[in-house]
Amino acid sequence: MPRHLAIYPGSFDPITVGHQDIVRRSLAFVDRLIIAVAHVRTQRKDALFTIPERVELIRQHYADEPRVMAMEFEGLLVDFARQQDARLIIRGLRAVSDFEYEFQMALMNHELWPEVETVFLPPAKEYSYLSASLVRQVSMLGGNVSGFVSPDIFDALSAKLAGRPA
Ligand code: ADP
Repeated sequence: MPRHLAIYPGSFDPITVGHQDIVRRSLAFVDRLIIAVAHVRTQRKDALFTIPERVELIRQHYADEPRVMAMEFEGLLVDFARQQDARLIIRGLRAVSDFEYEFQMALMNHELWPEVETVFLPPAKEYSYLSASLVRQVSMLGGNVSGFVSPDIFDALSAKLAGRPA
């Protein structure tokens, strides 16, 4: 029963169509999903949106989907999962390069809280090259990223890059 609530953690700066595809496919086997935006102590220097902005963009995007929630968390993912009583962690595995880190994290999380399980989903093949950092880089250099993010996120990205409030 508690397995029906899952957490999908990440930085989501911003949420891309690759992330949204993972969310959509997760909803086929979980009842509710928390998209959890991680605070990292060393904020990446190429960060674009603040954590509250990312959470708000996700909330607005899923405003009509009551099974999806957006939250931020700080500290250990397993502590957050325990607080929420969520025993499933969803992660996307895009390439072999993701594998080693993801494998270590999954084993460590399981060690820290044996009741938690990590489920890896492969990307849809058309999104396997897609990452939020690539979207940030391309859009900051003036490239068109409209194929990689949904229209609402594209508008927020354009506003952010133009220095307007999102
Ligand atoms: P990134 O900045 O690399 O996009 P995030 O930290 O926001 O990474 O990603 C959160 C999770 O979503 C990770 O498990 C990551 O592997 C997964 N993910 C990101 N992009 C995709 C994609 N295009 N297809 C499938 N999974 C993805």
